[in-house]
Amino acid sequence: KPEFAFIGRSNVGKSSLINMLCNHKGLAKTSATPGKTLLINHFIIDKEWYLVDLPGYGYAKRSKSVIEKIDKMIQTYILQRKQLINLFVLIDVRHEQQKIDREFIDWLGISGIPFSIIFTKADKLGRVKAKQNADAWMNALLDSWEELPPYFITSSEKKTGRDEVLDYIGKVMAEINEQNQQ
Ligand code: GDP
Repeated sequence: KPEFAFIGRSNVGKSSLINMLCNHKGLAKTSATPGKTLLINHFIIDKEWYLVDLPGYGYAKRSKSVIEKIDKMIQTYILQRKQLINLFVLIDVRHEQQKIDREFIDWLGISGIPFSIIFTKADKLGRVKAKQNADAWMNALLDSWEELPPYFITSSEKKTGRDEVLDYIGKVMAEINEQNQQ
């Protein structure tokens, strides 16, 4: 089954987003403690695809050996998983582009992994400012990227951006199904 994976720094709002997408409170555990997702969780969204919750990267509070183990697991999954169709990289819409996110995204590009960006917590800025910040963040990629990946602006608090993300997944799934029929 095709897999769509979600990744981001701890506390970016990944669990909340997954809850919103699943439309089912308590399916993915949200927590105020950063970095709780240690293992790779699969959620069955419908009969067609899996939503995959990857552990976050960039924890300050974990020991180095644990960080390395997680990074290795994430790397192996991302590089080798044939079922992985698209990786959603989550970014807090309030943040300027940070080195760790940029390095991760550049690594995805070099590795040829299809990805999109999901900006989170848009309600904290309001619609206009959130769009401005997201656009600035995306434009900063143009110094080394020729083409920008798709991006989405979401708020799990206000339940916005859900349809856009799910429509995108649906569109990609339709393309896959079409290819399989040829
Ligand atoms: P994770 O560590 O990336 O899984 O992040 P969580 O989903 O557990 O969220 C981290 C914190 O941010 C929690 O306190 C959430 O309530 C808060 N949060 C997550 N999404 C949103 C959002 O869309 N709006 C606001 N205002 N807060 C959010």
